[in-house]
Amino acid sequence: MEVCGTHTHEIFRLGIRKLLPKQVELISGPGCPVCVTPVSFIDEAIYLALEKEVTICTFGDLVRVPGTNMSLAGAREQGAKIHVVYSPADAEKYAGEHPDEQVTFLSVGFETTTPAGCLSVKAAREDGLDNYSILVANKTMPQAYEALKDSADVFLYPGHVNAITGTRLCEALTEEGVSGVVAGFTAKELMTALAVALVKFQEGKPFFVNCYPRVVTQDGSREAQLLVDEMMEACDCEWRGLGVIPKSGMKLRQEWQEFDARLKYQMPKIEGKPNPACRCGDVLQGKCKPSDCKVFGKGCTPQHPIGACMVSGEGACSAYYQYS
Ligand code: SF4
Repeated sequence: MEVCGTHTHEIFRLGIRKLLPKQVELISGPGCPVCVTPVSFIDEAIYLALEKEVTICTFGDLVRVPGTNMSLAGAREQGAKIHVVYSPADAEKYAGEHPDEQVTFLSVGFETTTPAGCLSVKAAREDGLDNYSILVANKTMPQAYEALKDSADVFLYPGHVNAITGTRLCEALTEEGVSGVVAGFTAKELMTALAVALVKFQEGKPFFVNCYPRVVTQDGSREAQLLVDEMMEACDCEWRGLGVIPKSGMKLRQEWQEFDARLKYQMPKIEGKPNPACRCGDVLQGKCKPSDCKVFGKGCTPQHPIGACMVSGEGACSAYYQYS
């Protein structure tokens, strides 16, 4: 299972699937941050934008992800202020430049993006901003590996996540029977990781190999780990398709809670309802291929996406649509 959406896309784009022996099947996993963000999170963002008149700062991919009744793009048509940014720092800067607006950044992603969200909150406090907050849906990968450990023989671990976390967590997973290799993103790095995975798998016992040593170390980034640990703590978290995984999410610690949008705006409990035709949940668990979804390429295309996996540039449905 290639966990990372960028791996999915690169493996398709480079034509690697066609080179593999037919008994080797690659399945896509839950590593696209936009794809695993549940419908309820989009609904929460729309609630803030329409009911509380908050300016939403977000990565562009999230704008077209369908919520229960509409996407953020739909909310924008109804007058909501939706501002696309390239980083949480941009969102904090926007808040500083627009003191008459309340601004919330949609903080999604994994260990790679969480530190940047923390830094933006720290900057907001240093700049004395009281109009900036973040709506947090950040997740941590190891709990997902455990939840999916029976879905795949070998994980292709996302190298950028391991650059932050280091390799110890993945090494420890071998004791629970979970095998995997850390992979980089070039053709050579992906081919090496796949070759090592195939050779080691045939030895018949759980294994871990770091095939991205030019970037990934055993300890990872201590600076990023300390920053996140100082500002955030683990919480139970909903993943699209996987449900609530205990302690797989992050939230701001009490000392930083004035920047937590859910608390600041007394967010009501919102239950999102995905489109019943969409099989993103099964795709993200490797239970089906995008092409097994009845509306793939018909009702659901990148121009008119029904589910998150077709919206995101890292989504498996988008990759299958573009390349397969
Ligand atoms: Fe969902 Fe579209 Fe993928 Fe089907 S093809 S699983 S509707 S995103």
